[in-house]
Amino acid sequence: MEGTYNRNKRILRLKRLIVVAFIAVIIVLTVVSVVLGVRVKQLKEKVKELEAVIAVSGERSDSDTGVYAMEAVEVSSRNTANAGQVQEDGSQNGGVKQIFLTFDDGPSSNTDRILDILKEYDVKATFFVVGKSGEQAVKAYQRIVAEGHTLAMHSYSHKYNEIYASRENFVEDLEKLQEYLYGITGIWPRIYRFPGGSSNAVSNVDIQELIDYLDENGIIYFDWNITAGDAENGNLSAERILENCVGNIDNVNRGMILMHDASNRNTTVEALPGIIERIQERGDAVILPVTDGTEPIHHYK
Ligand SMILES: [Zn+2]
Repeated sequence: MEGTYNRNKRILRLKRLIVVAFIAVIIVLTVVSVVLGVRVKQLKEKVKELEAVIAVSGERSDSDTGVYAMEAVEVSSRNTANAGQVQEDGSQNGGVKQIFLTFDDGPSSNTDRILDILKEYDVKATFFVVGKSGEQAVKAYQRIVAEGHTLAMHSYSHKYNEIYASRENFVEDLEKLQEYLYGITGIWPRIYRFPGGSSNAVSNVDIQELIDYLDENGIIYFDWNITAGDAENGNLSAERILENCVGNIDNVNRGMILMHDASNRNTTVEALPGIIERIQERGDAVILPVTDGTEPIHHYK
């Protein structure tokens, strides 16, 4: 009797153990499959994100190859080719001077007038623009690109005390402008001019640090070696501006002329036709836009 009782008890215990083990296995499997299910969902989302990133960077590198995307690609590469050709020709026939007309601080209410004049003379220029909103500005950025000029960067805010306060501020401002212009024009701009030039004395940050950032990001910066003198004084006469721009061309092999595209710089616009005519009359100079093939002119050494 004792033996049978004990055996039954053992069997019962064993049965219970099996049931408990079975339930435990079911619970573990359920938990594992729930965890795996969640993980799969997370990974699927991650893949989707990465696919989107790849799609965007693909677009970027497309435009990078030509600097200027869409229809401007052709114009830009043609200009780059011309620039190279002139350099070669220049060394062969006694030197053709390359002259670059550059306009800082736009767009402004004068941008259209400047573009009209450039169109009339079939001349391409370079606009170092700042970040401006509104329909007029947006149309100006687009027209600069559509008419084959170089859309270059000159900081978003143009506020020295903000841009030059720290490297982080500088980078944030520049990226903001770069993305803004890309959104409006489809062009990923890579040409830059420091507000105040690379020799400015206002930067809190060592300018070399900022130049390193530009280098690392494939951005080329340009200063100038001829100035219209229209920065300091909006009332400078058109005659004076004309003389400032063309009077020094004899002294340079390549002339990077700094002018301003601002609503209160009307005399700059008035001087522009004369500036172009005087350069073209020389016969030893050609007016070109700045491209990624242009040899930079730098103040900071
Ligand atoms: Zn400026």
